[in-house]
Amino acid sequence: MGLRRIGKRIVFELEGGLFLVLHLMIAGRLRWLASGAKAPGRISLAVFEFDNATLLLTEAGTKRRASIHLVEGEAALAAMDPGGLEVLEARLEDFAARLKADRHTLKRALTDPHLFSGIGNAYSDEILHRAKLSPFAQTSSLPDEDVKRLYDATRATLAEWTERLRREAGADFPEKVTAFREGMAVHGRFRKPCPVCGSPVQRIVYAENETNYCARCQTGGKILADRASRACSRRAGRARSTSSTEGRSLLLPGSRARF
Ligand SMILES: [Zn+2]
Repeated sequence: MGLRRIGKRIVFELEGGLFLVLHLMIAGRLRWLASGAKAPGRISLAVFEFDNATLLLTEAGTKRRASIHLVEGEAALAAMDPGGLEVLEARLEDFAARLKADRHTLKRALTDPHLFSGIGNAYSDEILHRAKLSPFAQTSSLPDEDVKRLYDATRATLAEWTERLRREAGADFPEKVTAFREGMAVHGRFRKPCPVCGSPVQRIVYAENETNYCARCQTGGKILADRASRACSRRAGRARSTSSTEGRSLLLPGSRARF
């Protein structure tokens, strides 16, 4: 019996070489219930009973994306790992090699779980802002000094937020889990002032999420227009047919392209 993490998945080691693998996706949450308490009906997906308490898996909203898998043996468990690099444990050379292995936008590379482990939409915005790099800069043509800055920014951002969330939770189980956090520089802060330069935070809207950035700090003042996101969408479309990465780049209806 033990607990591990593979990327964004939580792994419970059970007896007899069995593993329970949990992916909370966006709206899945874990919370402890006191023994004997009743689980809320509609949002409860699973209930894990321990000797002294009950752990509840819930998912709010209408989309059911959280998952639970039961697998047997280390090999089956390893097969569930998308293989992304753990940047906090990686050397600069490994980070650079992974980043440059293929031609992607930085935003797409950072959020691809096959390339990098556990970064996601929110932290990639924060990382790119800290590194002062455009979300649409291309991995393949990124100068060495920018790769180094991106590596440092990724480590600093992940370490800082891990520390911060641990401190906020203290000894308690984390109850408030959200991608929008007080203290983020650009993510979820469209039109609010950039904490570094005071310019309004910009956004690029996709079907299910958005990218936030500061034009002054990251793109030399250039507002990334729909043309850029359309180009990104075409690339994402092509890439999707050859790999199963999770990039989604559809434009909202009504957005206009400028050429
Ligand atoms: Zn700024």
